[in-house]
Amino acid sequence: MVRLRPQVPVLDRALRRDLKTLATFVSIFCSQRHEGLGKSPMFLKTHDVSAIAGREVCLCPSCSKLLSHAFMKRTHCPMDPKPTCKRCPKHCYSPMYRKVMRSVMRHSGRELLLSGRLDYLLHLLF
Ligand SMILES: [Zn+2]
Repeated sequence: MVRLRPQVPVLDRALRRDLKTLATFVSIFCSQRHEGLGKSPMFLKTHDVSAIAGREVCLCPSCSKLLSHAFMKRTHCPMDPKPTCKRCPKHCYSPMYRKVMRSVMRHSGRELLLSGRLDYLLHLLF
């Protein structure tokens, strides 16, 4: 009998927190920069996105791709303990995603700062 690997692995707390942060940052960016683009709830085979983010995450197609890339990279990060991505020697993102993610972090970081959500900024990933 073939046993299937569990589809949604148990995530450790730090990983879960980082994934939630990523989902939050990409959501803010997409909702403010990509208004009017067709958005749909984000689904991944590998992660229960809504459970991680604490709510449904609706994104445009390109932000969905970005977030799934980010989830994959963060989940498989080989560095332990994980440095912030800025200080990491490995730079695992593909250059295109890395560039977009930096502008997402800048944009949403500023939004969170203005709205007083400093809790998210204490562990900025980029
Ligand atoms: Zn978007």
